[in-house]
Amino acid sequence: MTCRDNRFGPREMKNLAPEMKTIQSVSEMKEWSRSCSGSVGLVPTMGYLHRAHLDLVQKSLDACDATTVSLFVNPTQFSPGEDFENYPRDWDGDRARLETMGVDVLFMPDTEAMYPSGFKTNVEVQEVTRRLCGATRPDYFKGMAVVVLKLFNIVRPDKAFFGEKDWQQLQVIKTLVRDLNLDVDVQSLPIVRDADGLALSSRNEYLNPDERRSALALNRGLQAAREMAASGIFSARSIRDRIREIIEEEPGTEIEFISVCDPESFVELDETGDGALIALAVRVGKARLIDNCLLENAKCKSPF
Ligand code: AMP
Repeated sequence: MTCRDNRFGPREMKNLAPEMKTIQSVSEMKEWSRSCSGSVGLVPTMGYLHRAHLDLVQKSLDACDATTVSLFVNPTQFSPGEDFENYPRDWDGDRARLETMGVDVLFMPDTEAMYPSGFKTNVEVQEVTRRLCGATRPDYFKGMAVVVLKLFNIVRPDKAFFGEKDWQQLQVIKTLVRDLNLDVDVQSLPIVRDADGLALSSRNEYLNPDERRSALALNRGLQAAREMAASGIFSARSIRDRIREIIEEEPGTEIEFISVCDPESFVELDETGDGALIALAVRVGKARLIDNCLLENAKCKSPF
């Protein structure tokens, strides 16, 4: 990294990994970014970090001269009655993990810093936010878009790293970047799962052992969909029905949506094909879980 401020000099010039800097103020974060002449990577998170977050961080460390991880539980992307207050938090553990990895800056603004009184602006990406999570979480994409745009403006990253578990979120961010001509290269990483197939999520913390067993039905449903498509079944309705059966067999599950859709527009399909997206949102106990896969080697229809 080549920053004008020598507190952030290249790591290889020192024998010890430099201390990670924790920044809470927006102006200090902007000043740090301005002082950096090397490439900056940003990994936006809501904290309670797990292996998938850390894989994104490692990708940024590998690809960029300096890495900033933001840790902010963004109130505007939660609707009333959702789990904003109870969202799991472990600031000290997160900080220690990131410091060990060699992250340069942990950006941890508080709500007042991000949304000072008088804040009035909405950011709305249309169309791609209408279906799936946008249909069931009315505030989610507006809140997410505004916070991501703010983070991009504050940190000024060259590259930003997101996970494909939040596939629709990723498409919304790509649309935002394209439409507003933002100079950020959006990179993504595949879904990271536990050994039993459950996609990692900070919200898995809410699951008791029985609920965790029930939650495995999401990945089993996706697996069944892949097998059906590979065996030549291309009726989206048959695939949705089979996934529904698999999930409903498990106690404590409540399906929010099962979608077989175009991976960019999220329009529901009648017939699947290579590249079709299967996306699920299911409540298990107190946890709202999402998962998805893109169909590969579907023996049918045209690719997306
Ligand atoms: P969050 O802290 O939940 O807002 O997530 C921060 C980033 O980590 C987002 O880009 C997520 O898509 C990504 N992420 C979370 N869980 C996973 C996972 N299991 N696999 C891949 N990416 C993930």
